[in-house]
Amino acid sequence: MSEIDYKKLKFKSGLEIHQQLDANGKKLFCDCPAVLRNDEPDFSVERKLHVVAGESGEVDVAAKYQASLKKTFVYSGHKENSCLIELDEEPPHEVNSEALKIAVQIALLLNCKILPIAQIMRKTVVDGSNTSGFQRTVLIARDGYVETSQGKVGIDTICLEEDSARKIKIDGNKIYWSLDRLGIPLVEIATAPDIKNPEQAKECALKLGDVLRSCKVKRGIGTIRQDVNISILDENRVELKGMQDMKTFLKTIENEVLRQKELSDKKTPTEAEVRNALNDKDCRTEFLRPMPGADRMYPETDLPLLKISRDFINECKKDLPKLRSEIFSEFEKKGLNEEMTKLLFKQNKVDDFRNLTGFYRDVGFIAKMILLFPKEISKKLNKSFGEVDEIVMDNAGDILRNLDKRKISEGDIKDVLVKIVNGESLKDALNVEKKDLSEVEEKILKIIKEKPGLSEKAYMGLVMGEFKGQVGGKEVMGIIGKLLK
Ligand SMILES: [Zn+2]
Repeated sequence: MSEIDYKKLKFKSGLEIHQQLDANGKKLFCDCPAVLRNDEPDFSVERKLHVVAGESGEVDVAAKYQASLKKTFVYSGHKENSCLIELDEEPPHEVNSEALKIAVQIALLLNCKILPIAQIMRKTVVDGSNTSGFQRTVLIARDGYVETSQGKVGIDTICLEEDSARKIKIDGNKIYWSLDRLGIPLVEIATAPDIKNPEQAKECALKLGDVLRSCKVKRGIGTIRQDVNISILDENRVELKGMQDMKTFLKTIENEVLRQKELSDKKTPTEAEVRNALNDKDCRTEFLRPMPGADRMYPETDLPLLKISRDFINECKKDLPKLRSEIFSEFEKKGLNEEMTKLLFKQNKVDDFRNLTGFYRDVGFIAKMILLFPKEISKKLNKSFGEVDEIVMDNAGDILRNLDKRKISEGDIKDVLVKIVNGESLKDALNVEKKDLSEVEEKILKIIKEKPGLSEKAYMGLVMGEFKGQVGGKEVMGIIGKLLK
C-alpha cells in the first residue's frame, strides 16, 4: 500500500500514551470514586482562567492563544464523586499508593529506572480542563525501552498524573466541564522519537498496549488516549491526538506524512501544531491548536517529596503481572487454544486456571469446566451466573482431583456440579452411580466378543448405549482402544 520512502523522508516519530489506572476505584489525590457519571449533576460553579505567566515573565504561545479566546468555564459534579480537592479548594492528599504501585509495575515491565525520590509538579494547563489551572504530575521512571521487530524504541519518561476534567459541551463563550474525570490516576508514557516508520509505530503501540492491559488499568472507550508525534526532513514536529483506533492508525500516519511532504514540496515549512485524528474512513486529521511551548512546571508545594523505596519496588516486583502475550504463549504450550485463553481473560480466570492445571492434565477440559459449564448450568437451572460460577470455582480443585484419581469421569462432571449447585455436598455429589472401571472393562470385552469385527466407533456407540452416561466417553474410548489392540 505504501510507496513512501520513510528513510529518505527522515521520518521520526514517538508515541505518548495516557492510560487511566484502576487504583482500587479511587482518584489520585483523594478518595473520591473514579467513575464517570452522566446523570444530572448536584452542583456547578463558574470560573475564569487565570493565565499564569512563566518564570521569565512571558506567556507561552498556547497560553496566549487560549487567553485570547476569553472563555468562561463551568464545572459541574456530583457530591459523592467530587470533593473540595477537585474544586481546588482543599490541598491534595498524599498519592494513592495503589496507583503508584501500578505505575511502578508498568515502568518495570518497560525496563525503566525508577526514581527513588520524585517531586510532584504542577503543569500549567490553560484550556480550563483543570480547575486549578495546572495538572499534577510526577516523573517516576525513565530510560526504559520496548522491543519491536525493527529494534528497540526507547521509553523516555513515565509519569503518574491526575486526569483532567471531562468536556461536556461548548456554548458560546462558555465551556462546560464535568469534574468526575478530574483526578482519576493516569500514567503517561512517552517514547523516544526512535520510531522509523508507521509499521514500527503500530507495533510499538500494540506492545505498550499489551503491557498496560497486563496491569491494573481501566478498560473501555476513553480510558486510553494515544498521541503520535511525527516529523519529516528535520521539519517541525506535529502531534496527532486521539490515535487510539488501531484500524485507522497506519493510514492516518501515512496521510499526515503525505500532508507534510506536500508542504515540503511547496517549500512551505511545517507548522508545529497539534492535529486531531478524526478516525473516519479516510483517516483524516484536522488542525486543533498550535503546538504548546515546553510544559511550564512548578513544584507542588502542598505535597511532600514522593519517595519510592527499595522495599516498595520489591513489593511491586513480587506481584509483577505477566504480559498478556506471555500468558497466551504459556497456555498455548500447555495445549489451550487462543479462544479459550481469551475467555479466561474475559472472565478474569487466568490465575484460577493456572492453579487448576496442577490437578488434572487435560487443560482443555479444565478450561471448559470453568468457562462454559457455569453458563450452561445457570441456564439449565435458571439460576444467576454469578452464583453458579462461584460454586463451580469453589469446587473445581476438588472435582479435578477426583477426576485425576479416576473416581469420576469427565462425563460425570456436569451432573456433579448440578447436584452441588442444587445444594448437595461435594461428597454426596461425587458419589455418582458409576460403574467401577474394571466392571466396565469386563462388559466391553463381552460386547466385543459377542459382536467381533466392528469398528472402534461402532463399539463406542454400543457401549455408551449400554451404560447410559454412567461412564465417560474418553474412558470408554481408552478401554476399547486397549482391548482391540
Ligand atoms: Zn475528591
